[in-house]
Amino acid sequence: MWGNEGYRFVACIIYLRGQKLLSGGTHFGWGMIFFVALGLAVSMGCGTTPQLPESEPVTPSQPRPDSLEPSFDPFEYSNPVELVTDGMTTISGRVQSATDIEVWDLGSIDAGSRLVVDVTGSNNNLSIGLFDQDRQVMIINHNRYNSPDPYAVLQVPQNVKELYLAVSSDPSEASFGDYTATITHNGNMDITDSQLQVVVLDFAGSDSVRIGNLDPIAIDAFQASDLTPDWNSSDDTAAIKQAVMQHMQRMYAGLNVEFYFDDEEIPAGQSVTLVYFGGSDPHNVGLSSSVDYGNFHRDDTAIVYTLNFGKYTTYGYDAQDIAAGLANVAAHELGHLLGLNHSDDVADVMNVSPTVATLLTPKYFVSTAKLDTSVFATGDQDGADRVYNTVGGNWNTVEDVRQTSAETYDLLSRDINARAATTNDHAQEPCLAQ
Ligand SMILES: [Zn+2]
Repeated sequence: MWGNEGYRFVACIIYLRGQKLLSGGTHFGWGMIFFVALGLAVSMGCGTTPQLPESEPVTPSQPRPDSLEPSFDPFEYSNPVELVTDGMTTISGRVQSATDIEVWDLGSIDAGSRLVVDVTGSNNNLSIGLFDQDRQVMIINHNRYNSPDPYAVLQVPQNVKELYLAVSSDPSEASFGDYTATITHNGNMDITDSQLQVVVLDFAGSDSVRIGNLDPIAIDAFQASDLTPDWNSSDDTAAIKQAVMQHMQRMYAGLNVEFYFDDEEIPAGQSVTLVYFGGSDPHNVGLSSSVDYGNFHRDDTAIVYTLNFGKYTTYGYDAQDIAAGLANVAAHELGHLLGLNHSDDVADVMNVSPTVATLLTPKYFVSTAKLDTSVFATGDQDGADRVYNTVGGNWNTVEDVRQTSAETYDLLSRDINARAATTNDHAQEPCLAQ
């Protein structure tokens, strides 16, 4: 957010002008500007607060092999950086090729810390990722608003034994070259403890469903008969809704996420994230408003395009299969709203299912799912662990339920394949992205 620097600069200029003008006599307009500017300047550190301590630029300490070597592990070639506590550290590096990844070892970080990583003026379209000691992703940024330079703000809710910063080409564009980044560290920030997330599964329809900055759409209340005329009783609709609820509760078991139907009373004083079920889309089976790292917004919105599932009923899949698919998409979109990225494991909730069979097989949060390469070139994601760090819960329950889900996944997947109408062709048909 380079804009902050700009504001500080402007505020300092006005502050100085205001001082000068005021010395020549009072003038209400300039006086007001002076006080506003003084407030801005004080709050932004213009001359009234000491400069943050800064490091000398740190450069890589060891060469690394060509990243195309299959054995290349960028974390093994990480460059140590001693972060300036409550200050700013500058690093200068080079991404050597489109497949190269440069990793910096930032050491241990205490809970309550806030890190801002700011790559400036790189002239390259680079991407940054922050990873913990298990190489699990904490945050990814490809571009800041209006600029290809990455910028990420990480609030650290739990102690991190080893924090890594990885820099590579933006996945969408082969790009490499020199870069400079500043890492601003602040300790003892007032970072909110993990908090319950209330989620409403909204099957009631709405005149205005708005996802992110897309135009609002109207969706009708969900009815099973929208998927196939054969499911024309209210019991069919109720059965699908119940099955979706059960899958959601299974996938998020042990995590401090509570699910309610749209007609249930929710706990007082809680923010609510809404997952709508309805409508159709030519490109996606579901959509969420953002990847909300740290779950700063506890009142986000996502949608599962239920009408997109209608054609699968003609392949021989029953209401329970369709419900599992709807829940997979709902859990995936909710994962984004809790800060999760796409993974590269078809059993994982955060995978973009390549086929109808993987879309309809009940998923779970795989403990060591690789990040999808469209997200970042290295690193893993344990979705349940990430969400646990954000909302809290009971870790033993998380482990128990996902072990059971993992044990049954292959069996259920084979079953889905076998029940495609006549051949397995339909099961392997590509599905829309989620
Ligand atoms: Zn997604």
